[in-house]
Amino acid sequence: MKVPLLDLHAQFQGIRDEVLAAIGRVCDAQRFVLGPEVEALERELARVAGTRDAIGVSSGTDALLVALMALGVGSGDEVIVPTYSFFATAGSVSRLGARAVFVDIDPATFNIDPDAARRALSARTKAIIPVHLFGQSAEMAEVTSMAREAGIAVVEDAAQAIGARYRDQPVGSLGTLGCFSFYPSKNLGACGDGGLVTTNDQALAERVRLLRSHGASQQYRHEVVGGNFRLDALQAAVLRVKLPHLPAWTACRQANAARYRQLFAERAPEAPVRLPVEAPDRTHIYNQFVLRVPARDALRAHLAAAGIGTEVYYPLPFHLQPCFASLGYRRGGLPEAERASAESLALPVFPELSEEQQRYVVEQIADFYHR
Ligand SMILES: *Cc1c(COP(=O)(O)O)cnc(C)c1O
Repeated sequence: MKVPLLDLHAQFQGIRDEVLAAIGRVCDAQRFVLGPEVEALERELARVAGTRDAIGVSSGTDALLVALMALGVGSGDEVIVPTYSFFATAGSVSRLGARAVFVDIDPATFNIDPDAARRALSARTKAIIPVHLFGQSAEMAEVTSMAREAGIAVVEDAAQAIGARYRDQPVGSLGTLGCFSFYPSKNLGACGDGGLVTTNDQALAERVRLLRSHGASQQYRHEVVGGNFRLDALQAAVLRVKLPHLPAWTACRQANAARYRQLFAERAPEAPVRLPVEAPDRTHIYNQFVLRVPARDALRAHLAAAGIGTEVYYPLPFHLQPCFASLGYRRGGLPEAERASAESLALPVFPELSEEQQRYVVEQIADFYHR
């Protein structure tokens, strides 16, 4: 049996005609950048995120970059970042000449440790970027109260968490700005790159819109130096086809996660694996289903030989990356993230995964530990 980590073919088969019709509509209109498709998507996504504004941008990476630019983050500033995330979270800070201050994670949820974040505050801190990793919100009450006291902005990295909730509030509406990605492997994926910035702050929304098109308030008049962070109409049209399906796809991911829990209890009760922890006041949308396991690399090779796709998110925390060596962090300095890097393993959890495939995955894991 083959079980890929992610299979986008199955999803596409179900919506093929609608997607091709939407692409045809954009080609007929010959309006490819911003325009009515993007504006309609922005209105629809503002409703999903529960914010006043939603601004379509070119990628999740650019969402983070332009959000930080809108806040005026630059040289001399510090931004607090969990050391355990996808590269863009830290890269966006460094690209603006600011200093990324890396902090450790809560080992249960893989998300930023709010106490560690508080200890990392300084007079130079301008913002904090909590990441809702794998599809579960960070501990936002502590992050936002700390930020309010310190007078700093909160930029949520919600790239993996569209539709996730914290105390019944959607992610992207909890901080100063929210950043989403429509990279094809995310729960809502485009036919290419795309992203979104959300906010309830009207002035910041206007700033993001300005920066998205080279800071131009009208053609060839530039108020500030921005960039080309615009979303394609083709991507917006495809995302509008997919958006109504998102709640059902998310429910399938959650059902698959619940089924893994049941299968591990029934068929691999002795296997030394730790399943993802769901914090009580949050809804996890399972962009990834990440185990913590001993002998991770050997297990991964065993599963690969059995035709099962897995991935390691993430093998090297930011503070140990070569590009951040000049920041002066050492191995052993942020131990929870280092442990997570050695132990984490993502299993297939995509919506169309079958029960038979999940049973096979769990049996292969049980086999590995009982050979
Ligand atoms: C995917 C992702 C991003 C970047 O999104 P792109 O659209 O790929 O640029 C940023 N942060 C996290 C946590 C991500 O998973």
